[in-house]
Amino acid sequence: MIDFDVIIIGGGVIGCMTARALSRYQLKVLLIEKESDIGMGASSANSAIIHAGHDPLPGSLKAEMNIKANPMWDQLSADLGIPFKRTGAYIVAIGDEDCECLDSLLQRGRENGVACEIISAEEMRNREPLINPQVSGALFTPTAGMVDPFAACIAPLENAIENGVQVKLETAFLSFLTKDGSLTGIHTNQGDFNCHWVINAAGVYSDEILRQADPESTFTIIPRKGEYYILDKSEIQLNNILFPVPSAVSKGILVLGSTHGNVLVGPNSTIEEDREDKAVTAKGLNEIWLGAQKLVPTLQPGSIIAVFAGLRASGNAPCPDCSIDYKHDFLIEACTQLKGLINLAGIESPGLTASPAIAERVIEILQQEGLKMDLKENWNPIRKARPRFHHLSMAEQKQLLKKDPRYGRVICRCEMVTEGEIIAEIHAPLPARTYDAIKRRTWLGTGRCLGSFDMPRVIELLADETCQPVTSITKKGPGSEFLFRLTKKVEA
Ligand SMILES: Cc1cc2nc3c(=O)[nH]c(=O)nc-3n(C[C@H](O)[C@H](O)[C@H](O)COP(=O)(O)OP(=O)(O)OC[C@H]3O[C@@H](n4cnc5c(N)ncnc54)[C@H](O)[C@@H]3O)c2cc1C
Repeated sequence: MIDFDVIIIGGGVIGCMTARALSRYQLKVLLIEKESDIGMGASSANSAIIHAGHDPLPGSLKAEMNIKANPMWDQLSADLGIPFKRTGAYIVAIGDEDCECLDSLLQRGRENGVACEIISAEEMRNREPLINPQVSGALFTPTAGMVDPFAACIAPLENAIENGVQVKLETAFLSFLTKDGSLTGIHTNQGDFNCHWVINAAGVYSDEILRQADPESTFTIIPRKGEYYILDKSEIQLNNILFPVPSAVSKGILVLGSTHGNVLVGPNSTIEEDREDKAVTAKGLNEIWLGAQKLVPTLQPGSIIAVFAGLRASGNAPCPDCSIDYKHDFLIEACTQLKGLINLAGIESPGLTASPAIAERVIEILQQEGLKMDLKENWNPIRKARPRFHHLSMAEQKQLLKKDPRYGRVICRCEMVTEGEIIAEIHAPLPARTYDAIKRRTWLGTGRCLGSFDMPRVIELLADETCQPVTSITKKGPGSEFLFRLTKKVEA
């Protein structure tokens, strides 16, 4: 008996967008994620830029997917309630040497068919008064933008769930089940699931899963860490995305104003052997601060409120059909050694941008591979974002308060998140079950106090709403419990 037609391994943006694309069809789909929430890998630790597509090597899959996906974000944002701003981005030259680089970037952008223009130093200073006065010019890409990276995972998956997709958290893929060389399912830490098709969207682990099916494969992921600072939005505001000229391996240390209003500074790029090591280092933080000051010299260390790091799933995938060695390109293909397995590996930047186009490519591959795919008649593309009390007009706030007075109790004072919003997330189509899951959905705890005031109340709310003891509430899953025992018991 078949449990599912298709199983997706990994709940990052690639798995979530793929789940939504598959939810259009009359298929039984399951997404498994090893962590306690989706979007805990690279998808929640990135620069959150929807790249224009000027940067990837022309002819590469990165360029193709980036350019196809960039215009899709306006509709996605409207349908799914994903915060998205098409601000444009600047690649800023400081000094004459950088200026020469702008010309080759302009040429590459034009080869990729991306709108871009070089603007003068004076124009750059007009457009961003905080820019280094030593600026010598900039490349402007008007179609770039920024997105809420958490909503980019949560929203499509919630829409997929509303259209019938199932999700199992804390469920880790362990091995493939096969019979006479054919794929029959997967073995996980939560038992076995039958299926004929598996989508490998496991981020930094996608090469290990790929090699289980094809031991001869030379495809390897070499994780590259990127570290960041987050600055207090009440101290510095910036509405632009500012890149330096890129290096051979990365787009460089940038400074940008996020959709949420905080300035983000980073990332650097260092090879990391441990696929779980997301710790920041003094050396790395120093490097990003110096890099950021080249673009905005007036940045003040006093405005730093948080740090984080993400791991890029950098792969080495030579192109099989041509002589060009597209190092670090995406690998998006059906596995030749195990029919039914589709590998989505090496999805580093611009993977967030490219995710909706990659999801569409998965549908094409499944159709080519012979999966019968009939469209659902009643597929609903719309996922309504839940209200953010602080963003509503006075009239809307009054109306909401009449329906549910819990929207009147502010739990996070820095970000003005209310009890009603937290409870709505606990009972959402993909229920938030940890403190960090609530944080990713509401942005609570991301202000200056970093959750000191809201945390005890959020723990209580999670416990009450899920009928669990407070000692079982965690920050981000098993092993991160806040409270180990009650210190006293008060009799009623
Ligand atoms: C520092 C940095 C900056 C970036 N900046 C940008 C940017 O500005 N713009 C852009 O477009 N892209 C950017 N990217 C790239 C982008 O973040 C990634 O391409 C994208 O998030 C990859 O998504 P994913 O779903 O493939 O991987 P992930 O988000 O890592 O998801 C993979 C998921 O698989 C799960 N998993 C792994 N193994 C198993 C298993 N055995 N069983 C079950 N689940 C499993 C993991 O827990 C994880 O949740 C950046 C990346 C980094 C690290």
